[in-house]
Amino acid sequence: MQREEWTLEAKVGILERRVAVLERILKISQILTSTLQLEPLLRLIAQAATELTDTEASSIMLVDKDTGELRFEAINGTKKEEMKPLTVPLEGSIAGWIAREGKPLLVPEVRQDPRFYSQVDETTDFETRSILGVPLQVKGEVIGVLEAINKTGDEIFTQDDMQTLSTLAAHATIAIENARLVTETQKAYEELSELDRLKSDFVAIASHELQTPLAVILGYASFLREEATGVASEQVDAVLQSALRLRSLIDDMVNLRHIETGEAELELELEQLSLNKLVATITAEFASLAEAKKQSVSIKLASKPPTVEADRQKLHLVLANLLSNAIKFTPEGGRIQVEVETRENEVWVSARDTGIGIPPREQERIFDRFYQAEPSLTRRFEGMGLGLSIAKGMVELHGGRIWVESVEGMGSSFTFALPLSEG
Ligand code: ADP
Repeated sequence: MQREEWTLEAKVGILERRVAVLERILKISQILTSTLQLEPLLRLIAQAATELTDTEASSIMLVDKDTGELRFEAINGTKKEEMKPLTVPLEGSIAGWIAREGKPLLVPEVRQDPRFYSQVDETTDFETRSILGVPLQVKGEVIGVLEAINKTGDEIFTQDDMQTLSTLAAHATIAIENARLVTETQKAYEELSELDRLKSDFVAIASHELQTPLAVILGYASFLREEATGVASEQVDAVLQSALRLRSLIDDMVNLRHIETGEAELELELEQLSLNKLVATITAEFASLAEAKKQSVSIKLASKPPTVEADRQKLHLVLANLLSNAIKFTPEGGRIQVEVETRENEVWVSARDTGIGIPPREQERIFDRFYQAEPSLTRRFEGMGLGLSIAKGMVELHGGRIWVESVEGMGSSFTFALPLSEG
């Protein structure tokens, strides 16, 4: 009876200790998941391993994919600095065995184990007596090994320690993977930002450098058109048309640059605008372009004329971009409808076409700079993929939004919403 009671107490004691350890692991795991930088994270894991298994030292080795060796990534103990540059081979070491087998290992007396790799001790002047090691595994693949070295005092490692270290390792690998993913994503992001900067610089330089020679060409061509007759006059016309198209491309580039640098915002010239009037005027400007493609253009204005506080030039640019796209991406004989409507405290302007449409996966991206649903090299349509990003920038400068609804092969509907003027 006496003995059974004691066993029960002992059992409760063991359970209490386990609960305490698990609580500790949980706390550590919370700290681990909140750290996204790999190096401090590994340091924390090594510290936690020493603390939870009550040992002299702990280390984390990760598999170096290039050399196939194990590299010390974090060490907790007295010989930190000496150990940092060392590596451990996969063959002929306890850590290597753990990594290769993907299993935990408890070695109470390393000097009696032929797998022990003594070189680290020799270099660092440390004496390893016992090792408890567990693999760090992600989706069945071993990425490293977590080891606890020399249990303190005269204690020896127990199965409980192994359980504890394995649980810590499981939490740690998730945190390590997260940190690695974040690092990779950050790197990719930095590369993209650099690319973006190069693109912006290019746009700034190119647009600036093209402006002057183009002005000269336009000047001469306009002058020659007055003089030329017959075939020559047609040729001059063609030159003039091309030069004008180039100018609108350069204008796009300059506008984009202004949006990026925030200059466009400073330059907003706000006035009270009647959207019905503005939309009617711009739509009329596109009539001949649509006519050339035998497209019908209809317009539906709001019954109660809405007023917005906006920059005329910039809104002009938005609608002009939408209309020129609608005409460009709609085959001959198609229909284009422009509509202005008041919706609560907003006014919505939409340009609907019966053109080629845009596949769902492209619909978000077409508002990105230089993005074209059809790659430039196989393109049937002119343009640089700047119009919509400029339109979006301009609409957002006015506190509005722009979006597209489209069914591939059926047509597209671009809409922008602007806040109505009060009163
Ligand atoms: P660009 O017209 O110079 O190529 P935009 O930024 O104006 O550049 O448009 C980006 C892309 O979005 C176009 O290349 C085209 O693939 C798609 N797109 C825009 N408007 C339409 C439309 N009305 N119908 C079909 N596709 C369109």
